[in-house]
Amino acid sequence: MNEQSALYLLKPGELTLKGGNRENFMKVLLKNLAAMLRGTGASITKTDGRFYVNCPSKTEAVCENALSRLAGITGWAKARKSEKSIEAVMSAAVDEARTCYDDGARSFKVEARRTDKSFPLNSYEICREAGSCVLDAIPSFKVDVHSPEVVVNIEIRERAYIYGRERKGLRGLPVGVSGRGLLLLSGGIDSPVAGYLAALRGMRVFAVYFHAYPYTPDEARQKVVRLAEIVGGYAMGVNLSVVSFTKVEQRIKEGAPAEWATVLLRMAMMDCASTLAARKRCKCLITGESLGQVASQTIENISCAESRARLPVLRPLIALDKESIIKHAVKIGTYETSILPYSDCCAIFSPRHPIIRASLNEAALLYDGLDMGPLISEALGEISVSNPQ
Ligand code: ATP
Ligand code: MG
Repeated sequence: MNEQSALYLLKPGELTLKGGNRENFMKVLLKNLAAMLRGTGASITKTDGRFYVNCPSKTEAVCENALSRLAGITGWAKARKSEKSIEAVMSAAVDEARTCYDDGARSFKVEARRTDKSFPLNSYEICREAGSCVLDAIPSFKVDVHSPEVVVNIEIRERAYIYGRERKGLRGLPVGVSGRGLLLLSGGIDSPVAGYLAALRGMRVFAVYFHAYPYTPDEARQKVVRLAEIVGGYAMGVNLSVVSFTKVEQRIKEGAPAEWATVLLRMAMMDCASTLAARKRCKCLITGESLGQVASQTIENISCAESRARLPVLRPLIALDKESIIKHAVKIGTYETSILPYSDCCAIFSPRHPIIRASLNEAALLYDGLDMGPLISEALGEISVSNPQ
């Protein structure tokens, strides 16, 4: 390995995809990878089933951070490249083993893959030979074939690649292969995670936040802008539209029974989001709802909201409990921002005794009676956009 640069090997995921789908997967993955590495001076090469990233040493940390946020790879590792002679491969394997040992590993095994069948040793022989070279060089490094602390991988392809610690990729599909979706993004814990999970299934995520200034402070909006940025780190950018819902909320407050406020507000959000989605060429709406989590998320209330959606509504969190949602939020880095105290409109707007199982007919009568159409059109006329893609 050149001292001035670092080499990474990437394993694309979803190997079950076939034909055109697989080709498109690879094409989009490559494009996303290139976009994420822009400005780092890294170069990308692609050969049979693997991507390689070569980056200058000084941008290593930035590249590693990008690889850890790239949807569509099952794993990645810093690798050594060597000539395809037995001596060169064994010497690289010993070097790699020593690095792992110096990092604290005390047991290892060797795994080998060989796509170039002209290499004089088969996979089994490579493992055996490399294992004994490592033991000769570092006698206190123990072989453990069942649960080694580290696996020294040797791949014989158009060149030989040797790597120890492999990092888990995000898996999923490259962002963009599944079309566009519009995420209803609040400042809470759930919807950023929903957006992240949709992005991992290949969705290009657009977001809308319904802001009710001055009922909700500007800090609440800034928080959502920040959340969109963080999710955008995985989703190849999230374009956020902020829609002022102050008048819509006022109309609901003045024109409908208090206990209906949340259900009617959700209906208005779906209504408005459906129009915005069409403008942004999004094929679905995405929310952070999880069945039964709060009063507004009974199946009856979800049905009322959905009755005003004119596109399919994806709910990636529908079956997750709060604990697992929080785990995701912590992992992707949205949690700390989500728990900042500024509440989004809904918290302030929540009636003390909300309707738990709203009737669809009643909801429709109330909603239609509020004549929301003109207010929603007005709100859509003055959108502010941040994080343009
Ligand atoms: P979250 O943690 O995402 O805020 P929540 O548990 O607070 O969710 P609700 O307040 O019932 O649940 O909101 C349900 C979903 O409705 C949210 O996940 C989000 O998708 C959408 N939503 C709620 N408020 C807003 C808002 N002000 N702007 C955009 N979308 C919203
Ligand atoms: Mg909320």
